[in-house]
Amino acid sequence: MGNEQALRQSMVDVMQQMDARGLNRGTSGNVSIRVDGGMLVTPSGVVPGRLTAEQMVFVDNAGNWDDQGPRPSSEWRMHLGLYLARGEVGAVVHCHSRHATILACAGREIPSVHYMVAVAGGAKVPLAPYATFGSEELAHAIAATLDGYRACLMTNHGQIAVGRTIHQALAVADEVEEQAAVYCGTLAIGGPLLLDDAEMARIGQAFMRYGQQKQG
Ligand code: 13P
Ligand code: ZN
Repeated sequence: MGNEQALRQSMVDVMQQMDARGLNRGTSGNVSIRVDGGMLVTPSGVVPGRLTAEQMVFVDNAGNWDDQGPRPSSEWRMHLGLYLARGEVGAVVHCHSRHATILACAGREIPSVHYMVAVAGGAKVPLAPYATFGSEELAHAIAATLDGYRACLMTNHGQIAVGRTIHQALAVADEVEEQAAVYCGTLAIGGPLLLDDAEMARIGQAFMRYGQQKQG
């Protein structure tokens, strides 16, 4: 399998995994991977069970694609905007996972309710302002809100996560959904006990040393 074919297949796999895990339903959500000169993005409005590697759409850095092939995700501007703004981002995952969407529909970000909130790259998971799906305005709002973070909630819509690889971006989206569920749960029983900024800073440092780091 060539490298591009493997990337295309990984996008199909991630869309199907999100469906199987309940992070998305129907044709909700989309994913992309940075490639030379642009990105590969999922086609618009195709259920994960019917996706094939060949349907992934190449969109160049100027926003052009082959109009003989499938149309790219309606959110292609949001994906492309992140690659143009963030050199370290290699993949983007967008989904409407339930608890993240509940909070987004209530206009709430996720505060420092648990140390794993730091997976999103800071002391909270921020909330981007509302704009119509697929709009340039939404693309700008997401790029401005993410600004250094690895994930954000999207008002009245869902969540978006970035990573160096698509599997990293999926792992971040999965954890954001878990933290959203935890935060919703605490709101139902009197409200969360939050970690303070100094502790979140220590957690950020601890994460840099966490796991199987390369020795010296
Ligand atoms: P697409 O099917 O066009 O990717 O749209 C799904 C979605 O989640 C829009 O925000
Ligand atoms: Zn969406």
